[in-house]
Amino acid sequence: MKIIFKIFILFFLFICTFTQKVFAEDLYKVTSFNYDTSNAFILLTVPDTVEEPVLKSIKVVKMENPTRAYFDINSSVLTTPRQDWSFTANGLKQVIVSQFSTNPDVVRVVMYFDDDFDLSKVHFYRIKNNIIIKFKDIQAKNDYFQNIYRDDHASASDFYEYLTMTTPDVPKDDVVTQIQEAFNTQHTSRKELKLNTKYYIDSITPKQNAILLNGFGTITIEKPMILTNPLRIVYDIPNTLVKGSIRNTEYKIGENETVKIGQFSVNKARIVITTDDVKKYIPIISSDNQSLLIANTDKIGNFNLFSNISNMISYSSEKIDSQTNAMTLAFTAPVVHGINRTNEELTLYLYNVENYNENDFITAFKNTAFEKAQISLIPRIGLELTLPLEQNSLVNTFLGADGKALKIIVKAPKKQAFITEPTTPAPVTQPKPQGKGIRKVVIDAGHGGSDYGAIRCDINEKDITLDVAKQVRDMLVKKGYIVQMTRDGDEYVSLQDRVAISENFEPDIFISIHVNSSTGTEASGVETHYYHQESLMLAQTLHASLASAIDTKNRGLFKSKFYVINHTTDPAILMEIGFISNDKERAELNSPARKKATAKAIVEGVENYFKQIK
Ligand SMILES: [Zn+2]
Repeated sequence: MKIIFKIFILFFLFICTFTQKVFAEDLYKVTSFNYDTSNAFILLTVPDTVEEPVLKSIKVVKMENPTRAYFDINSSVLTTPRQDWSFTANGLKQVIVSQFSTNPDVVRVVMYFDDDFDLSKVHFYRIKNNIIIKFKDIQAKNDYFQNIYRDDHASASDFYEYLTMTTPDVPKDDVVTQIQEAFNTQHTSRKELKLNTKYYIDSITPKQNAILLNGFGTITIEKPMILTNPLRIVYDIPNTLVKGSIRNTEYKIGENETVKIGQFSVNKARIVITTDDVKKYIPIISSDNQSLLIANTDKIGNFNLFSNISNMISYSSEKIDSQTNAMTLAFTAPVVHGINRTNEELTLYLYNVENYNENDFITAFKNTAFEKAQISLIPRIGLELTLPLEQNSLVNTFLGADGKALKIIVKAPKKQAFITEPTTPAPVTQPKPQGKGIRKVVIDAGHGGSDYGAIRCDINEKDITLDVAKQVRDMLVKKGYIVQMTRDGDEYVSLQDRVAISENFEPDIFISIHVNSSTGTEASGVETHYYHQESLMLAQTLHASLASAIDTKNRGLFKSKFYVINHTTDPAILMEIGFISNDKERAELNSPARKKATAKAIVEGVENYFKQIK
């Protein structure tokens, strides 16, 4: 506990130590752990403060019965709770990182393997202050990259649920428990660990036109979402836990600008910045990847972001497969970088980089996927690197463990065959006819169980959607339809499972029922989402039925890439049956009359739809 407290002091250090954490004692502090499934390695970050590098003397001891390997880090303390990870990959079964003794201070790392595991596959070495353990022979240049930024298109369904700030089931004030939860939740059942990063946000420092987050672990940030009315930008940080006492506090960071950080789900933090300058706010990552500043790029000149100057010294590209290419850049000193992702391009701001060789850069990327990359030095900003992107590309960026390399992986979208076909509007595809008029319908009640959906005044989206869904089911069954529910009780069903249930059932149509929410209280009304063209008629018909039956605003149809309507093969729609954030509409949504009228309208819509397609 004392040690945990000590590390907290760090987070109050001023921003000028953004790139360098300074410790008061001559002890190594093991601050961060990272397991990367793609490369099968474990990384421990140990800030180095003593003259004689003790880490150099570390010896790995390999033993049989059970097959295991361990090493001790002398003169070191663990600044997080004991780590106990379980694995089912690469022959690795378990890793335990613990404070082996306190006098002297020794941290011990023990790895257990399958009995037949070849211990000669375990490689130990260090890059700067990072201890790296590799489990198979892999190319050295990929060893130490950590995922910093990723496009997460699978979570597009979050767009309409940005206000759901579910609090995970951990005691709010027990910091140690929270950290343990953050680092252990996904592998308590010995399932394969699939975490790219782990991060614990311990402190938030509001600044003029910026917000600084400090914590430990390593940060990965996702593609932002921009929301309107009021304008705000949303950044998600996956695999992250926010300290209980700083959740959902609103900070003022400028004239009419505020920021709020919530625990969006058990393992995801969400940062919402309300500002008219949404597109100006970008994430800026420290070279040790433990601090994150989200700041208005126009005003970034006011911040002292770094204490060291770096030069870009090497440039290379690599074709990973027909769609995927990687660019790797190396530097003389750790870089502090900002990431600006838009639909058209990715821009990296390398704030402390002063030099590069333009000719080498151009030559390196000539005739590669990065040929259109542009680079320039901008006074008082640093180096700016811009990569044009095709729409629907997937971008991942990585930072080297020593902060001295950046890797950008771009996956281009699959080329669709129909794009080359004539552009005459295709008739709406007729869904497959079903014999004897017996129709199969999947009803998907949004959320459930631990996933409450949007919550206002103790009224939960998951309860309203289930209630309406069950009424729709009962009415359809009475009319002779075969109905499959994705859930018929208050239980958690993943989006993947919802799709799987539907695919197995092979329905004629899929209808997902949700309740909308907004940060304000004014928004109200119904809207219907579809994604695939063949779902358009279903969306039009059901939306018309709902909008005419319910006395609320008709917000119209939207083409949205929500998971359940994107991944299902049959015509599929997602209906938002009203706003829980609007006091009047919430009361109505929760009333038996509105629920019944909504169910009835959906059923009438289904009937009309099947009449149209015969
Ligand atoms: Zn929902």
